[in-house]
Amino acid sequence: MHSLMRRAWVDIDLGALLYNATTIAEQAGVPLLPMVKADAYGLGAVAVARALDTLDPWGFGVATVGEGEELRRAGIARPIVVFTPLLTGDFDVAVRSDLTPTLGTREAIVRWSETERPWHLAIDTGMNRAGVPWDAVASLRDVLATHRPQGAFTHFHSAERNDATRTLQEERFAEALNTIPVRPAMIHAENSPAVEHRGPSPWSIVRPGVFLYGVSSGNAPAIAPRPVVSLRARVVELRTIAAGETVSYGGTYRAPAERRIATLAVGYGDGYRRAFGNRASVLVHGRRVPVLGMVTMDMTMVDVTNVRCEIGDAVTLLGSDGDDSIDLMELAAAGEISPYELLTGLRGRLPRRYVNASDA
Ligand SMILES: *Cc1c(COP(=O)(O)O)cnc(C)c1O
Repeated sequence: MHSLMRRAWVDIDLGALLYNATTIAEQAGVPLLPMVKADAYGLGAVAVARALDTLDPWGFGVATVGEGEELRRAGIARPIVVFTPLLTGDFDVAVRSDLTPTLGTREAIVRWSETERPWHLAIDTGMNRAGVPWDAVASLRDVLATHRPQGAFTHFHSAERNDATRTLQEERFAEALNTIPVRPAMIHAENSPAVEHRGPSPWSIVRPGVFLYGVSSGNAPAIAPRPVVSLRARVVELRTIAAGETVSYGGTYRAPAERRIATLAVGYGDGYRRAFGNRASVLVHGRRVPVLGMVTMDMTMVDVTNVRCEIGDAVTLLGSDGDDSIDLMELAAAGEISPYELLTGLRGRLPRRYVNASDA
């Protein structure tokens, strides 16, 4: 794995990942069901799940049966809960790969129960996305009495705001749980921001995702994650442009004076978003310089007029270099996107390098 030869890559600090998982588990006081859906938010589900497996989580959460299958093939033996409703064709895969579906309709519950395998009841308390509406759980009492779920859960829509919407959802959840004939063994609700704000969990397990990968809700939470992901790209060309010249598509940057421009081998085809143009900064030998003009599919231009810079140098677009760092929240804000979108977008052409910075 010679990053020397790479045009652009993502560094993933597994030591920081484990620190974040340990931190959030201590705050919650219950076992984790780490969410590794969408290829662990773009970090690589197998590598992330293998690393987290050493912390003895209760299981893992994925979105699709395909994601669950991938983890099984990689040798993950714990429960794997699938959080997106199954399509008809998914049932066989779920059985074959020993996955635990989340179900929210009578038909799905009856059908899955023929397998006599565990499943979790999805209760919708206000997200209005998936699961049985909280006030309709009572209408499933008969089927829940004969086909008992291993677990029951809900999902908060605005936990990062730490406001009354979470309280309302918790009340609805409690009401729904009370109508289930036999209380399921595994009750769960909290995503990362809910654990950050809520402290010890009153339920059985928690379902953190983004906190593990280095993103905090940023709304005065009690705990803070360490950064996990860095994005780096090499300088592939250097040029000096005269005052009045423009840079990149649309000519949206115009040089006010002579400028030295470095071209980085990374673009929106790698998940470095077009919207970062003229708004984001990068670190060149630890010095912060601006992105000039629109980010293109494969290349991005930055201003290196006042910094040391040579062809082949590795530039940091996300992460730390020297004393400075560009974090996910800052970069996401520059593109007016969510840090979740930024993380899950860093894939495709970008090779991942797993490191352990705490060992370095
Ligand atoms: C994605 C997801 C989570 C994790 O959310 P984060 O905000 O990333 O911690 C938890 N539960 C469900 C059902 C999810 O879909």
